[in-house]
Amino acid sequence: MDKRDYYEVLGVSKNATADEIKKAYRQLAKQYHPDLHPGDKECEEKFKELNEANEVLSDPDKRAKYDQFGHAAFDPTSGAGGSGFSGSGFTGGFGGFDDILGSIFSNFGFGGSTSGQRRSSAVRGDDLKVYVELTLEEAAFGCTKEVNIQKTVPCDQCAGTGSKSKTRAKCTVCGGSGYQRKVTNSFLGQMVREMPCENCNGTGFTITDPCGTCGGRGWMRRTVKITADFPRGINEGQSLKKAGQGNMGLNGGPNGDLYLSVKLKKHKTFTRENYDIYQTVYLTFPQLALGTTVKIPGLDSMVDLKIPEGTPSGKQFRITGKGVPVLNTKTNRGDMFVTVEVVIPSKLTEQQKAILREYDDAGDKILRTDQQADPKKGFFGKFKK
Ligand SMILES: [Zn+2]
Ligand SMILES: [Zn+2]
Repeated sequence: MDKRDYYEVLGVSKNATADEIKKAYRQLAKQYHPDLHPGDKECEEKFKELNEANEVLSDPDKRAKYDQFGHAAFDPTSGAGGSGFSGSGFTGGFGGFDDILGSIFSNFGFGGSTSGQRRSSAVRGDDLKVYVELTLEEAAFGCTKEVNIQKTVPCDQCAGTGSKSKTRAKCTVCGGSGYQRKVTNSFLGQMVREMPCENCNGTGFTITDPCGTCGGRGWMRRTVKITADFPRGINEGQSLKKAGQGNMGLNGGPNGDLYLSVKLKKHKTFTRENYDIYQTVYLTFPQLALGTTVKIPGLDSMVDLKIPEGTPSGKQFRITGKGVPVLNTKTNRGDMFVTVEVVIPSKLTEQQKAILREYDDAGDKILRTDQQADPKKGFFGKFKK
């Protein structure tokens, strides 16, 4: 590491006065301000070097050590000087670094600094997420729902002022801005930081007669009824955003947003997958074997399902356009998938049994397999007879 001499960095002589050092630093700092050279790594390095030099030379103690030991004075591995840099100065990432610059240069009257925004104590309200249960039909065809939301709102007793008489005085410490400027001396010279005013907790006001309902905070937790229109086609996991309907902001900050997240109730007939719906219909053996047309439930009306002769149990039919309407379209819909299953009755009348036996005897037994046959009365059983 060939570190440049700090005096050389600042362009001053070894016996420069504190004022000369300060002046030289400010001059050069303005010249290499990263805001003026966006993306210029060399400038950034120069600027860091400059600040490092200034931290040492502007501090009489550190300067004395530096004069005696040189860079080794601040090298933790050398053991020469001991405590030099705290180390926190340049490792905080560029964001914090930039903040510091902003404070310095606004202090110098250096126009156009990027961090000119005030560090006010305004706080944005929290976003809220609330689950809303919809039936499959409600989600499919859209619905309007009233939802109860627990959120923070301005106290209605004091109209959000926090004061019983609804009067509050401008904080005399911060002048109503809600923030305080704290001047500290640091390695970068005099630094001004803006932080929430301690006197008024950043509100900018002081209250002499705190509201009994909210304790002077100006806000309370309330259950609020919200009306929400869920569009047709919305599905589980999707949510409706209500901008500004979350928790209230503090000290003039904006409200948070509210997200109404959809949960689908279990449906007795259908399951949904994207825009398609699925159901199983139970039919008798003759219906499947002989073919028929059955009426089955659809999402919005009964639907005719044609069963061709000789339909095997477990076959799935697809009825196009009978699924869920597609979100943000007028007429597009998914499909309905229908699986047919044969029902085996657990109880039969004597007459039914007789007919079935007759059917069985008339049937083509060669087609049957061991698995399908009843081991007692099946293919091999009959053989033994
Ligand atoms: Zn204040
Ligand atoms: Zn109140």
